[in-house]
Amino acid sequence: MTQAYPNLLKPLDLGFTALKNRVLMGSMHTGLEDRFWNIHKLARYFAERAEGGVGLMVTGGFSPNMVGQLSPFASTMNNRGTAILHRHVTSEVHDAGGKICLQLLHAGRYSYHPFSVSASATKAPITPFKAKALSTKAVDKQIDDFVSAAKLAKLARYDGVEVMGSEGYFINQFLCERTNKRKDKWGGPFENRMQLPVEIVRRMREAVGPDFIIIYRLSMLDLVEGGQTWDQVVKLGKAIEQAGATIINTGIGWHEARVPTIVTSVPRGGFSEVTAKFYGEVSIPVCTTNRINTPEKGEEILASGKADMVSMARPLLADSEFVRKAQENRSDEINTCIACNQACLDHVFQLKRASCLVNPRACHETELVLTVAPVRRRVAVVGAGPAGLAAATTAAKRGHLVTLFEADGQIGGQFNYAKRIPGKEEFFETLRYYQRQIELLDIDLQLNTRVDADLLKKDGFDDVIIATGVKPRTPGIPGIDHPKVLGYLDVLKHNKPVGKSVAVIGAGGIGFDVSEFLTHDFSHHPEGQQADFEDWKAEWGVQPDFEGPGGLAERKPTSSPRKIYLMQRKTSKVGGGLGKTSGWVHRNSLKHRDVEMLGGCSYDRIDDQGLHITLSDKDGKALETRVLDVDNVVICAGQEPFRTLYDELASEGIKTHLIGGADVAEELDAKRAIRQGTEVAAGV
Ligand code: FAD
Ligand code: NAP
Ligand code: SF4
Repeated sequence: MTQAYPNLLKPLDLGFTALKNRVLMGSMHTGLEDRFWNIHKLARYFAERAEGGVGLMVTGGFSPNMVGQLSPFASTMNNRGTAILHRHVTSEVHDAGGKICLQLLHAGRYSYHPFSVSASATKAPITPFKAKALSTKAVDKQIDDFVSAAKLAKLARYDGVEVMGSEGYFINQFLCERTNKRKDKWGGPFENRMQLPVEIVRRMREAVGPDFIIIYRLSMLDLVEGGQTWDQVVKLGKAIEQAGATIINTGIGWHEARVPTIVTSVPRGGFSEVTAKFYGEVSIPVCTTNRINTPEKGEEILASGKADMVSMARPLLADSEFVRKAQENRSDEINTCIACNQACLDHVFQLKRASCLVNPRACHETELVLTVAPVRRRVAVVGAGPAGLAAATTAAKRGHLVTLFEADGQIGGQFNYAKRIPGKEEFFETLRYYQRQIELLDIDLQLNTRVDADLLKKDGFDDVIIATGVKPRTPGIPGIDHPKVLGYLDVLKHNKPVGKSVAVIGAGGIGFDVSEFLTHDFSHHPEGQQADFEDWKAEWGVQPDFEGPGGLAERKPTSSPRKIYLMQRKTSKVGGGLGKTSGWVHRNSLKHRDVEMLGGCSYDRIDDQGLHITLSDKDGKALETRVLDVDNVVICAGQEPFRTLYDELASEGIKTHLIGGADVAEELDAKRAIRQGTEVAAGV
């Protein structure tokens, strides 16, 4: 068999040790690190990825001391007991043939507790706590703590450490004028400001000896005002090499940056251009990162000489066998990360355990176990949306004989409309994955088949899983039958023409997505294609050559083919219910296209004049009435369960399993649909 990804899968010789390929599983906080009693879960999580063939893994961030903790009692590596406990992780990983480094992350002013410290007394916009400035001596103490933590990582038998120098954390806070106003030897000119990371790496290398990996995560593009210039980044990178680092990894953007760096609308692999610019400045291996989610993209980046390694974090959460599938030319079987952040980063920011929207087993490896079914049963799954697809493929993997019925001519349910939204092209990959699994698992897929109770009764299945999804809600607004009213399915499924001015009723995820769709210029950027990175940089205000402070530029205005009003009845922030780590991107993107967002609306009537609304304040007091003179009103007012089939079967006493939107439509998303489908099928 020919090797499909020769550059990606080539070993990397680090002198004292070798990595079996160029894939680094980047650091991700999962929440399992924070509590010692989860150590076996953490060990299995990493071991599954080591078994999947990844070259090197990096753990979530561990603070070298208490003040640097991300939140109270969060993961810390500061004593021998913890180090010995971590041998559970390292031994399981080594037994599986893998290698793993511990990430050392001092949060500085990003710490979510009142004892945070930083270069200067400043407060980050993303935490409520103002950090205290460290004394000159106390800075030295932080360095000592980094060094001690690295020694403990060695005691724990990690293969090395990654020093987190980017994303706006402690080290980054010393590097930039924005946060470092010090007058002592750790402040002032850049040569002083960069001494903190250089000293950390230098003293660490002295302490751990030559045969221990030290990865340094270098902030190559801060994406904040007062960030480093390109010359400074290069100067620091060279000094870090001299200080004894083994690998330089790329860091892009501070957490407080207002430029998206990893959400799904960021073009695949775009930021590898930054690493490419740095590549060649040092002679140690350089790793690139951000939005690389397929072996093809990784191979293309390495083949074109932009880096020596690629870091993929979330893609390894989505599919622990990513590398093995690539090695075996089975990349079409990879469950691709769609960069939604819904179950990983959003969970972490809500202090919940991370998982993955497309792979609910992620971080639950010891709990959501898929056993071979003791008896092979005939299972019918009705509806091939995310819930039904997850249920059908899980049941078939366990050995059941599965028939999957779908009324439509294609699988995917509502995901077929999600994938049409500009910036959400990745959602196509989930459907590609399931389509391939259906073939591999020999699932009897019956498209264009609307199932009724008689059909199910006739075929005598052992188990019936109902995943018939949702139907859009039609609000009782006077004039709702007016010809200018459309549903979101009219727009996204039936391609009905839409005029130049539009009122969108409902500002949930779908209202935002429909507005994105209607404000998009498809003549410039056709449907199904991700944005060109140069256009994307111009839209978000990133300098084409990344040279100036923080790499920021003036944002280029983006014109919209339509005037859009996006409305909700609540008086809270419009779009406030969107994802924690992605909602701001959606809001910002629409504001940039002059979408007018209105909260506190009541919809009085729709007629030839347009949409009549009353705007009220949070106490319900009417402030003004308006007539929005629009060509169309598009309804995105949520959904209701569609379960006539379930009710029919229940009335005849036939027991079924009910999952996805057909079960509960309120706050339904694909994360819940897929998880519920998987869990139900794990038990049939
Ligand atoms: P559905 O997807 O509705 O699937 C139900 C399926 O059952 C349909 O294919 C239907 O044809 C079929 N069916 C119904 N009755 C029968 C019958 N009698 N016989 C046979 N087949 C039948 N969620 C997220 O988590 N993140 C997002 O970013 C996101 N973006 C979205 C963007 C848009 C534009 C839309 C419309 C939705 C988005 N969603 C998103 C929501 C997500 O798609 C839904 O939560 C998910 O599809 C629900 O899955 P489901 O399987 O329960 O139902
Ligand atoms: P949703 O998030 O529940 O939003 C429904 C919107 O309709 C709300 O703005 C609601 O706000 C309004 N509404 C509800 N009842 C109404 C009524 N009777 N009359 C007028 N307005 C009404 O649902 P959705 O937008 O349909 O999305 C469905 C699911 O898909 C969501 O759970 C979402 O998580 C998921 N999704 C996620 C994303 C994502 O990017 N993560 C994208 C798309 C969809 P008011 O009550 O204030 O008016
Ligand atoms: Fe990727 Fe979404 Fe899974 Fe996170 S939850 S790993 S972003 S698919």
